[in-house]
Amino acid sequence: MTQTQETPAAPAATTLPPGRLFIDGGWREAVSGDRRDVIDPATGEVVTTVAEGGAADIDAAVAAARRAFDEGPWPLMSARERGDLLLKLAGVLEAHREELAQLESLDTGKPIFFARMVDLGDTIDHFTYYGGLAGSIQGATRDIRRPGFAYTRKEPIGVVGAISPFNFPLILSTSKIAPALAAGNTVVHKPAEDTPLTALRLAELCAEAGLPPGVLNVVTGGAEAGAALARHPGVDKIGFTGSTATGRAVAAAASDTVKPTTMELGGKSAQLIFADADVPRAIECAVNGFVFNTGQFCMGGTRLLVHRSHYDTVLGALAEAAAHVPVGDPRQETTIVGPMAGPRHLENVERYIALGEGRVVAGGRRLEIGGGYFYAPTVLADVSNDARVVQEEIFGPVITVQPFDTEDEAVALANSTPYGLAAALHTNDVARAHRVAARLRAGIVWVNSYAVLDAALPFGGVGQSGHGRENGPEGLDAYLQTKSVYLPTD
Ligand code: NAD
Repeated sequence: MTQTQETPAAPAATTLPPGRLFIDGGWREAVSGDRRDVIDPATGEVVTTVAEGGAADIDAAVAAARRAFDEGPWPLMSARERGDLLLKLAGVLEAHREELAQLESLDTGKPIFFARMVDLGDTIDHFTYYGGLAGSIQGATRDIRRPGFAYTRKEPIGVVGAISPFNFPLILSTSKIAPALAAGNTVVHKPAEDTPLTALRLAELCAEAGLPPGVLNVVTGGAEAGAALARHPGVDKIGFTGSTATGRAVAAAASDTVKPTTMELGGKSAQLIFADADVPRAIECAVNGFVFNTGQFCMGGTRLLVHRSHYDTVLGALAEAAAHVPVGDPRQETTIVGPMAGPRHLENVERYIALGEGRVVAGGRRLEIGGGYFYAPTVLADVSNDARVVQEEIFGPVITVQPFDTEDEAVALANSTPYGLAAALHTNDVARAHRVAARLRAGIVWVNSYAVLDAALPFGGVGQSGHGRENGPEGLDAYLQTKSVYLPTD
């Protein structure tokens, strides 16, 4: 691979007050008094500290959100008024796009180009899309077998607990926050412990733009804070994105108070290249699908299934491309692959490669660049389908490549893990495209493309990739409940 720079540039500064939580419209000291260092993954240096919130801090945030829901104007405002405020917030985020992109890049290690275009682009789009969709929230009249008026109302659920992972901090918090707010809920957000900075800045910007106190609260912290939120009796719904293992714990904790949950969990997505595919285009998708976000991408296309007639060509091209992807300082505009988000993420990838499953045809080692947590894009061939590197989510820049002979075999291999998040297929046969798309066990299928996501397009998983959908009207419905009303006229 090409290294874009040996020594990363100095990190951008953060203006956030260290060690504070954002509760009830302002900054608060954490009750616990504990703090956690935030590390720049490109250098390993401490950038700032944040509060390590605990159960008492979750109590305070839930109390503020509860008050804002039960007493405040927010749920009683017309949905169109709430939509107007979300559209205003989209404008505020646009005005702060560069600042937030720098902060996201600093916190996660993702290349600044992607932080600006993808992370901020999608985040702003969530506010724009749900700001516009808010006006469509409406019930319906019902014709029942009695005289009178019967109708349904679409109402907010109440206090929403939003728990997000480290890899797309802003996108995966606003994919919950924007629809939850549009629907009239109030929110307590717990971002990932590794990447908490932009959530705090988002809450501050929302308050400055006029979001009433208590409507959006942010408690930074780890598993303890997340678990306290999931089981809290004052919380009415959990929107969770994270690993399947944590999702199980969150669902169990939420079940004590019978809370509805949306679960966006892990994945091990397949990309299928058929004999009749546009092979150069498919290879480009395959490379992007596994190196994007340094492979820390739930929908990463980490299992490549190739028709045997193209296997050698594709494997060679993939190894060549992996060796030349620009890896390095995320602050350089030309960097495509930055560091992993932290040492535990890097060590996890190393553990998988150390299993010795398959043949390493590219990468397979960490990279010494400026003290950061870099791993070389890695291609593994000659893997058996039951190998752990094929079946388990590695969450790093690693792809396995397997040959197939028939369409049935390709579909069977694609559907052979417990996950079902995303899949892609490459073919020039229209009938095959529709047939295979229907047979793939996944929440989203891309044909002759990869990772096309949009605030209007629902995504989510089947099987152990979770349940419920974010984005689109389905993502708004997830934060609404239906009430039926009947009024007799006799
Ligand atoms: P994680 O499961 O370790 O953590 C996710 C969040 O849960 C964090 O905020 C964490 O602090 C919190 N948490 C941890 N233990 C908890 C507990 N017991 N109760 C409540 N909250 C708890 O995940 P991660 O490492 O941050 O993110 C990577 C994982 O997320 C991968 O598995 C990836 O596939 C998945 N992911 C899924 C999607 C999707 O849309 N399906 C998107 C992005 C990431």
